[in-house]
Amino acid sequence: MSNRNSKVDFNKLPYKLQLSENELPKQWYNLRADMKNKPAPLLSPATMKPITFEELRQVFCDECARQELDEVNAFFDIPQAIQDFYKMYRPAPLTHAVFLEKALNTPAHIFYKFEGNNTSGSHKLNSAIAQAYYAKEQGLTGVTTETGAGQWGTALSMACAFFGLVCKVFMVKCSYEQKPFRREVMRTYGASVVPSPSDTTEAGRKILADFPDAPGSLGCAISEAVECAANTPGFRYALGSVLSQVMLHQSIIGLETASAFEKYGIEPDIIVGCAGGGSNLGGLIAPFMGRKLRGEADYHFIAVEPASCPSLTRGKFAYDYCDTGRICPLSKMYTLGCRFMPSSSHAGGLRYHGMSSILSQLYDDGLMEARSVKQTDVFAAAREFARTEGILPAPESSHAIRVAIDEAIKCRETGEEKTIVIGLTGTGYFDMFSYQKFNDGVMQDYIPTDEDLMQGLSQLPEIG
Ligand SMILES: *Cc1c(COP(=O)(O)O)cnc(C)c1O
Repeated sequence: MSNRNSKVDFNKLPYKLQLSENELPKQWYNLRADMKNKPAPLLSPATMKPITFEELRQVFCDECARQELDEVNAFFDIPQAIQDFYKMYRPAPLTHAVFLEKALNTPAHIFYKFEGNNTSGSHKLNSAIAQAYYAKEQGLTGVTTETGAGQWGTALSMACAFFGLVCKVFMVKCSYEQKPFRREVMRTYGASVVPSPSDTTEAGRKILADFPDAPGSLGCAISEAVECAANTPGFRYALGSVLSQVMLHQSIIGLETASAFEKYGIEPDIIVGCAGGGSNLGGLIAPFMGRKLRGEADYHFIAVEPASCPSLTRGKFAYDYCDTGRICPLSKMYTLGCRFMPSSSHAGGLRYHGMSSILSQLYDDGLMEARSVKQTDVFAAAREFARTEGILPAPESSHAIRVAIDEAIKCRETGEEKTIVIGLTGTGYFDMFSYQKFNDGVMQDYIPTDEDLMQGLSQLPEIG
């Protein structure tokens, strides 16, 4: 695979492979249309049968429910209002990491697609604005959601402020306490923020009864947000990851990347991203995976997850609930079990028990690799990146940086000139307590034992 770019003069490239405004994608790409093995359908928790549009539209706004169920149409027009909003912070830069390459003394060519160039600090705004738009179009008054590290809640707050919607955010309790400034950004955009588990919902009260000191988890906050939406007239629920509709919106990342590479005649070899619920990675790889599925090209895709929450590398491919409270639909995915309580690992955005059903299917079909990495190794990579390329990366994003650096070092040893693309999902300004621990040398690596994992895995639902 290596040296497919022998005709490209990498020394003559601009530092940023930039697209102009009129080169921005006007459609999202639905990778499912090109998959022979489609992801298994979501199941209704009430009937255990494939969920219907009627059931789904009780939870999500109508157009999002439609997109969720559509595995046929390859392209969806991006509404003009969303295209206009995207112009405030897109195209996201695709940067040639020349300083990192030099520091690593590698013949590899490293690029990163940087999604942290907006106030929410991550790629999540790409889907938040779409979900808020469709809610507004339908005449709804507000949305509820959960947030882990805080990026999704911030993104949805911004999107709701833009379209004049009410936004209620259930924030994982340990993040709520660790990141007061995140909370205040959301409130500045008009959202109300509740620490989860809370006593304002039945799901929250149940979890508190079992685990009074629960630090919270995404799965638990999801249960609360869904329940709250169901009980509030004119409200629906919005989810920032995992779902196929979210991956559809995030395809903007990959489409821009593919266009920019095409413009300069470059073909990547390795595409690497961090995987929490799978939306940024899925979005980044979508057009490239499409080519691979259609037999037009080949790429090495790598999903990187924390060793503390290893759904792909140590989970099971099975139907499971998307939330701890077991009120959400079931998805067939790589999962650690919906009752899995991850340690208060710092990469908040990667502390989810499950994984996108699309990525899970692709992984199970052997079309993608997955690796897990330890937190201290991740922060060492983050530090190297900050010192060379200037950007202070989010801990989540730094999982991808870790593996990209490892691959670049391999190239140094073999002399291969591979072209590596990193999905750099965001900035880490709200993660300075974690950076502090790392800088003080007191950061610890938590890796669950097989026994720890069995607790969650043994409780997977039986599907007939
Ligand atoms: C949420 C988040 C992630 C992980 O979510 P995915 O759905 O897997 O993309 C990664 N990086 C950042 C900065 C995030 O905010």
